Amino acid sequence: MINFGGTIDVTTLDYPGKVAMVIFFRGCPFRCIYCQNYRLLFEENLVKEEVIEEKIKEARAFISAVVFSGGEPFMQFDGLLSLSKYVKDLGLLVGIETCGYYPDRIRELGELGLIDTLFLDVKAPLDDPEMYTRITGPERATERVKDSLNVAIDADFELEVRTTVFNGLLGSEEILRIASSLEGFGGRYVIQEGIPDLAAEDEIKHLPPFTYDQMLDLREVASRYLKRVGIRTREHGLEI
Ligand code: SF4
Repeated sequence: MINFGGTIDVTTLDYPGKVAMVIFFRGCPFRCIYCQNYRLLFEENLVKEEVIEEKIKEARAFISAVVFSGGEPFMQFDGLLSLSKYVKDLGLLVGIETCGYYPDRIRELGELGLIDTLFLDVKAPLDDPEMYTRITGPERATERVKDSLNVAIDADFELEVRTTVFNGLLGSEEILRIASSLEGFGGRYVIQEGIPDLAAEDEIKHLPPFTYDQMLDLREVASRYLKRVGIRTREHGLEI
């Protein structure tokens, strides 16, 4: 059984260059103050895997990839493993969005050849455990995220590292620190515009959104250390 949060049946926004289906898993070890999917964190909706497989099969003709999102997909490891196998057997690509809390599970799925692209969140500078905990909740999250990053960098699959920014919470200083800690990383680094209105906590809901020009400035900052930097904005989607 999967604690299932729903689907986006067809999208061009969630797997760069591909038409994809997104499958949401409920539950997450984090409680990010800006979470926009917080409704997936608390309630339960147990569904047989075959029901989800049927949905994937129905979308098969229109998609070339399936993205597992959440919540945190690696929290339901057995279900994720079995659905990833199903997706690969259909000849589709597997993308997984993760907060990086389960490095051993990322390694295991990667070694089984069941990940094509991992979208890994780095939610704050990894040398600042206090800030990481303030944003995400659990103590010692940075150690797990660092391990996940190292596993993913060494693995065969494609890696996109992401940071979601909010004006007044996380901006150029933090992006500079994150980018400098990733120096030498050859994958894609994407700075995502956070949407305050959709956030879980009032302290975030009332922050002013970043403008498009400010997002471009953040890309410039990260580009001092990294070669492939993109921004994802409400206005223009993903731009590398
Ligand atoms: S990791 Fe993602 S789903 Fe989990 S609480 Fe944070 S933003 Fe929400």
